[in-house]
Amino acid sequence: MQENIKYLNEILNKPSNIVITTHRGPDGDAMGSSLGLKILLNKLGHKVKIITPNNYAEFLHWLPENNTVLIYEDEKERCDKITNEADVIFMLDLNCLSRLDQYANSIKKSNAVKILIDHHLKPDLNIADIFFSEINVSSTSELIYEIILMLKLKKYISLDIATCIYVGILTDTGSFRYSNTSERTHVIVSELIKIGVNSSEIYNLIYNNNSINRMKLIGYCLQNKLNIYPEHKSAIIYLDAIELKRFNFKKGDTEGLINFALAIKGITFAIFIAEKDGITKLSLRSKGDIDVSEIAKKYFNGGGHKNASGGISKTTVNETVKLSEKIIHNLKK
Ligand code: 5GP
Ligand code: MN
Repeated sequence: MQENIKYLNEILNKPSNIVITTHRGPDGDAMGSSLGLKILLNKLGHKVKIITPNNYAEFLHWLPENNTVLIYEDEKERCDKITNEADVIFMLDLNCLSRLDQYANSIKKSNAVKILIDHHLKPDLNIADIFFSEINVSSTSELIYEIILMLKLKKYISLDIATCIYVGILTDTGSFRYSNTSERTHVIVSELIKIGVNSSEIYNLIYNNNSINRMKLIGYCLQNKLNIYPEHKSAIIYLDAIELKRFNFKKGDTEGLINFALAIKGITFAIFIAEKDGITKLSLRSKGDIDVSEIAKKYFNGGGHKNASGGISKTTVNETVKLSEKIIHNLKK
């Protein structure tokens, strides 16, 4: 780590053209860490562009400098040009290039120095030159904070930067409830609050900002689309494209839905399946020992963390439910 910090320090010593990117379907940690790092790098005199593979939930659009973010799907040529001209590329909150979708090609072609900052299991060691890969931090945002301290740049952490980092930690820890929340996480959060972060206002902006459609979709799922397998302590929630359309689905509307399944007494393994943009997407969650990243990798070309992972299925939602039932059945063995 010290070696990497030294190297990073050298890179940041001269003004550079920098691109920051993060995984498709950017979440609070992806956007919080990207925007926080961008604002810091701007303060140090660098030119920085954030390029995300696709758009993200509206409940993140209030974040500082959100209006500067470029979306690859919407402006491919412009993003390719910027990426081609970059001296340095930061890849945040991802462990493999497939998480970048089509933007991966542009990144592969670039000759920039590539720096990966991430907290997922098993990073692909071919994709970057420098790795800050720490699986014991709550979030990439927490790791960004630690790196800022190691670079001795704490004095540059403005309220905007602190807010971005706070949002990443808040969302990736499920509001400090998941097992990835450590004593250190709380210490860092207290430092962020000292800087002026308004935790209750941010909570309202992120969590008390639901559309009526989302609330009705949650009700519909709990009533009609929740399968429970009590003998296997498991649950599945599943939605097809027609149902999502019926509730006027917007990005972010199904976020956190899987936690309702895991909130049921006795349930320790949950799968959420939904058809989005023609793709059957899965989220997997567990409490305790079950390593869902292994299941995501084995069956769904995915990965993530021990208790929270995701992946993709090549078949329909219904077929994926059947496969998931088989996986659940095998768990007991
Ligand atoms: P979510 O279920 O919230 O989409 O994702 C949970 C975790 O799994 C996140 O840390 C996310 O980065 C990871 N993840 C989600 N989908 C995929 C995927 O398709 N591939 C990989 N490698 N990781 C994923
Ligand atoms: Mn994350």
